[in-house]
Amino acid sequence: MSLPYETVIGVETHVELATRSKMFCPCSATWFGAPANSLVCPVCLGLPGALPVPNRRAIELAMTAGLALHCEVPAHTKFDRKNYLYPDLPKGYQISQYDLPLNVSGWLALDTPDGPKRVRIRRAHLEEDTATSKHGEGYALIDFNRSGVPLLEIVSEPDLRSADEAVAYVQALREILVFAGVSEMRLEEGAGRFDVNVSIRFTEDGEVRWPPQSEIKNLNSYAAIREAVPHEAERLWRSWRDGGELRMRTGKITVGWSPERRETFLQRSKEEVEDYRYFPDPDLVSFTPSRETVERLRASLPELPGDRRARFARVYALSDYDARVLVADRALADYFEAAVKASTRDPKQIANWVTGEVRRRMKDAGDGAGVPFPPEQLAALVELVASGEVSGSAAKEVFGDMWTTRRPPSEIVRAKGLTQVSDEGAIAAAVDAVLAENAKAVADYRAGNARALGALVGQVRKRTGGKANLSVVNRVLAERIARGEATR
Ligand code: ZN
Ligand code: MN
Repeated sequence: MSLPYETVIGVETHVELATRSKMFCPCSATWFGAPANSLVCPVCLGLPGALPVPNRRAIELAMTAGLALHCEVPAHTKFDRKNYLYPDLPKGYQISQYDLPLNVSGWLALDTPDGPKRVRIRRAHLEEDTATSKHGEGYALIDFNRSGVPLLEIVSEPDLRSADEAVAYVQALREILVFAGVSEMRLEEGAGRFDVNVSIRFTEDGEVRWPPQSEIKNLNSYAAIREAVPHEAERLWRSWRDGGELRMRTGKITVGWSPERRETFLQRSKEEVEDYRYFPDPDLVSFTPSRETVERLRASLPELPGDRRARFARVYALSDYDARVLVADRALADYFEAAVKASTRDPKQIANWVTGEVRRRMKDAGDGAGVPFPPEQLAALVELVASGEVSGSAAKEVFGDMWTTRRPPSEIVRAKGLTQVSDEGAIAAAVDAVLAENAKAVADYRAGNARALGALVGQVRKRTGGKANLSVVNRVLAERIARGEATR
């Protein structure tokens, strides 16, 4: 479906940083799920006379995020007061950064169906989160636990062209931030929130038109972005076409998104940056990040997901899919690499176990659970299969045992008698016996009934106590039948 307009999208992402304490006070920043108003002090309650002290770790994490996003670190940076009045902001201002943010001019690489694309990052600045409010009939309750939690606001340029691209962008952004240890960014806990700027661009009477945008505030899921963006773009288009508000409007508007009604609603028209009366916070000094600090943080950056995927595909000859699945989870990728190091076999065999059984078990075990045995043991299991000592199906059983008992695979194989028979002489004897006893199945097979072969394989397995190496059985059977054919 081709639309009569182009959708132009820029995203402002708010991310809670993974610090132990809040941005300007020693209160715990682990606010989600804590009893209401249990993590507070005069600073984060905004009491008169309380003085903020910046959290060094938060500044470092914010800079780490900037470096991971290829931003420049400016020579000078400072905190400003962004003035506005709201019950969840008792000071009457939010400490944020205005004209000298910590990070500027970065970019993020995106894979799109049309090929790779760079989304420019305009800036990423540090600020404090607000309290949360709960609205009831005729009253509101405020919980200050979240007040003062360090927040990084990452602003993209309007480089995105569809809701799918916007979602791909925030997913890639989240992946980088989680990888770099900057944030857990649990969306379901509100630790990542998106303000999405949507506008439409089109040609009318030979002229390019690009009327002002709508900012959709506080989307907190990928599904919401996917639904809200096309909805608002279409609403703007209709408004223009039907001579509605967009024809008169000169500035942007702010809208909310109702997931229940699946539509946007007007929050504020006319809100310009001047309205916030930004000025440098007199309680906080401006500062100059030292080159040493910047270089130390740069050196501590892990290999980022895109680079790691490319390396996995190149060095281990993995498919794009395998590389993607492994790198999607940093711990899983580390585990895979350690197992590969401990093994002499094709890394693809290790990858099959890690993306298959290991991942399935981890999912079943639930959040945060790691693999209960070291990667060397997985490598040992792969070796047992590759050398033909155990069959693929027996290996799955061994794996299950390793998961629950943590015993080494060789020990489990021995204890359970799972060693498979690969000895050709023993298998050939069983094959010959089976062929002699099943003349009818052999004849059926020769007559073109392929399923008869399966029955013969089953008989051989039975004769060897279920331990015959199936690939050897299949080969010997085929050889014997072919030979019988030739001498008939
Ligand atoms: Zn506090
Ligand atoms: Mn903000």
